[in-house]
Amino acid sequence: MTPIHYTIIPARPEAHLYRVTCTVADPDPSGQRFALPAWVPGSYMIRDFARHVVSIRAASRNRAVAIEKLDKHTWRAEPVAALLAVTCEVYAWDLSVRGAHLDARHAFFNGACVFLRVLGQETAPCELEIVRPGGVRYRNWRVATAMARKSAKPYGFGAYLASDYDELIDHPVEIGEFTLASFRAGGVPHDIVITGRHAADTRRLQRDLKRLCGHHMRFFGGPAPMKRYVFLVTAVGEGYGGLEHRASTALLCSREDLPREGEVGVSERYRTFLGLVSHEYFHTWNVKRIKPAAFVPYDLDRENYTALLWAFEGITSYYDDLALVRCGLIEKKDYLELLGRSITTHLRTPGRARQSLAESSFDAWIKYYRQDENSLNAIVSYYVKGSLVALCLDLLIRDKTRGRKSLDDLMRTLWRRHGLTGGGLEEDGIERLAEEVTGVKLARYFDDWLRSTRELPLKALLATSGVEMELRPAESGEDKGGKPARSKNAAGLAMLGIRVRAQGGDTGVTHVLEGGAAQEAGIAAGDVIVAVDGLRPGQAGLDPALAKRQPGESVTIHAFRRDEMMTFEVRLKRADADTCVLAESAGARQKLLERWLRPDTRRT
Ligand SMILES: [Zn+2]
Repeated sequence: MTPIHYTIIPARPEAHLYRVTCTVADPDPSGQRFALPAWVPGSYMIRDFARHVVSIRAASRNRAVAIEKLDKHTWRAEPVAALLAVTCEVYAWDLSVRGAHLDARHAFFNGACVFLRVLGQETAPCELEIVRPGGVRYRNWRVATAMARKSAKPYGFGAYLASDYDELIDHPVEIGEFTLASFRAGGVPHDIVITGRHAADTRRLQRDLKRLCGHHMRFFGGPAPMKRYVFLVTAVGEGYGGLEHRASTALLCSREDLPREGEVGVSERYRTFLGLVSHEYFHTWNVKRIKPAAFVPYDLDRENYTALLWAFEGITSYYDDLALVRCGLIEKKDYLELLGRSITTHLRTPGRARQSLAESSFDAWIKYYRQDENSLNAIVSYYVKGSLVALCLDLLIRDKTRGRKSLDDLMRTLWRRHGLTGGGLEEDGIERLAEEVTGVKLARYFDDWLRSTRELPLKALLATSGVEMELRPAESGEDKGGKPARSKNAAGLAMLGIRVRAQGGDTGVTHVLEGGAAQEAGIAAGDVIVAVDGLRPGQAGLDPALAKRQPGESVTIHAFRRDEMMTFEVRLKRADADTCVLAESAGARQKLLERWLRPDTRRT
């Protein structure tokens, strides 16, 4: 097939406009159709990138060709018998890992936001010309992407190659004056590209990421699935996010999450960054190559339904932190703290009693990705519960097989059977394979954990691998769990059952929890609480105002709703024991804990 030729230029950074041309050598004689994706793989929400196309025109042999719009993201050019070029101006002002962004400091884009798909020629190879914008301001700009170079020099503007459209949009591109640090892991060159002001210790990042990437490669075994790998990191004041690709990832983090020169140990913030890196890197295998059949190929025009996101996001979330302890970047106690926090998050989600994990996966498009004030009561996260189901599955298999098998074996078999072959995973594929690989009858557990809202047997299963699980009430609004209570006789706060956010000097209610005291009293999301028993809590928030209250006591709350003052009599409830603390149990099970958290992956 004749290659499709694309050209992109960050034409007007000050107006956030790219100019993108797509040239087709053999256009459809009945009128070539073009489309922009409705979503970007890895982020399961309809985003309609075509809404950022500001203008579009077509030309052939230096003559304008009519182009008409067929639906929200499809166009058709008038039939022509020669080369057809379509040029779009695309507005780019979305600084998220799934968008496109452009200003005078840098350019970043996902192909799904900017490159038209030539309908009927999706499998044709693609050549991409990345053009430097005009002006001295941009003379030091470089290009970072995992896309194969054609004639472009390393990190240079010029020609790049992708084997088809799917690959073209799976290599995000960063352009600007970035920090570049490189290392090799498993024989594969890796780049860390950092955009935005930062004071990161890049040698430390090289060292730590090399260790982590090497661990993931050994975990799956065999030759690495990519020839090179690029971490595209955007450091900002506050931010968090990542999107996986076949040979790269786009990460958004706070600059404070990156380790500074001279910093020793792994701070909580750096641990968060390492967890994100680990998560996206694990996706190189799990979801970019081991994929649900529903994604083979992706249908970029509409939602792609699968009940398996729990496995692709949940299992990945399980292994992201687990890999940190397994490769020695964090200590066992740090890992147990992270796990305790995940369990706490899950237990503080009333929606876990309403939505099963399979439903959460299936409805990701309209629920998980489009959360509102009721989401906490109505949905469960396929990331958080998915990771806990992966944990339960791992511990159950270890227990039932006396440590001979584990979830690791399932992942490696998935890699060999589906990752290396590209054969999509049917909806019941994980469940069937899990039984086959481990020899354990798992059907009733999958029914319970994936398709019902029954509580997970976390305490019992953790005990089988030498971990004691305790639940206690939260000590404050800041208490995320994972750590023992600070005061010995903490009975916990008397609870209102709301989530809040500071709003001016007052407290805005963001969520009202199902069955809580606030809901019973009639408080609603969006209410602005201005007084508790006639006193303004102010900037200190509600914690101090409620600290000395007992469950069963009543308080009067004044709040504004629709700018009307309302009064609520709230009978406080006892705080739930929803805060999880994990600890190593003493004695015989310590060996099992070692085997779980520190397997020697060097030999696998
Ligand atoms: Zn993920």
